[in-house]
Amino acid sequence: MSGDPAFSEEELEAARVLFARPAVFLMGAVSIDGLPAPDLPEVAFAGRSNVGKSSLINALTGHKHLARASNEPGRTREVNFFVLDDKLRLVDLPGYGWAKASKTEVKKFQNLGRDYLRGRPNLKRAYLLIDARHGLKEVDKEPMDAFDRAAVSYQIVLTKADKLKSVEVDAVLRRTEAAIAKRPAAFPRVLATSSEKGTGLPDLRAEIMTACAVAP
Ligand code: GDP
Repeated sequence: MSGDPAFSEEELEAARVLFARPAVFLMGAVSIDGLPAPDLPEVAFAGRSNVGKSSLINALTGHKHLARASNEPGRTREVNFFVLDDKLRLVDLPGYGWAKASKTEVKKFQNLGRDYLRGRPNLKRAYLLIDARHGLKEVDKEPMDAFDRAAVSYQIVLTKADKLKSVEVDAVLRRTEAAIAKRPAAFPRVLATSSEKGTGLPDLRAEIMTACAVAP
């Protein structure tokens, strides 16, 4: 983790308690008309297919199968909504950058993701997941541009940090923070996480709790 601790022990504990509460799958939406009413604060997760998005949502909530983890690129093509403790929603956006899908398919899912981002008054923050081994790539610029254009506050989360040595993780953190410094809607603090080892999850839970302004 870079920089000073961002949260007090009390905040981290509150976030732990919040995320230990029940999380349930609410619905999957395939079109913008099918979204749930914007009556709870939401945070959305975006990332390339296979980045570890399902694993992260499962690890955050302590579930094994809440979000469907799949190695088949592009299997998750809906916007999926999960409700945590009846207080906030975790929103799983369609993965991008997979090779197998057709251009039309890609467009359809990108449009849904984009429409969601543009027109969601209760969206408090988006999380852009980046594989720690790869860092930011050209393909990740598109979602960052979309967030910047839609003025959606977003924070970058490095995934699978356990696959690197800690000095390497620090280097990727610094590179990523430098790369997003001039992006207007990007949150300056980048988080390194491992769903496998649990690294960084207490901080991410506290970030989400704070962004949604909820308490357990
Ligand atoms: P998604 O397509 O973004 O939902 O990605 P998944 O959650 O299905 O994960 C893709 C692959 O990466 C799976 O084989 C996971 O086991 C693996 N993976 C996910 N998170 C981690 C992690 O923190 N550490 C390691 N070593 N592997 C991970």
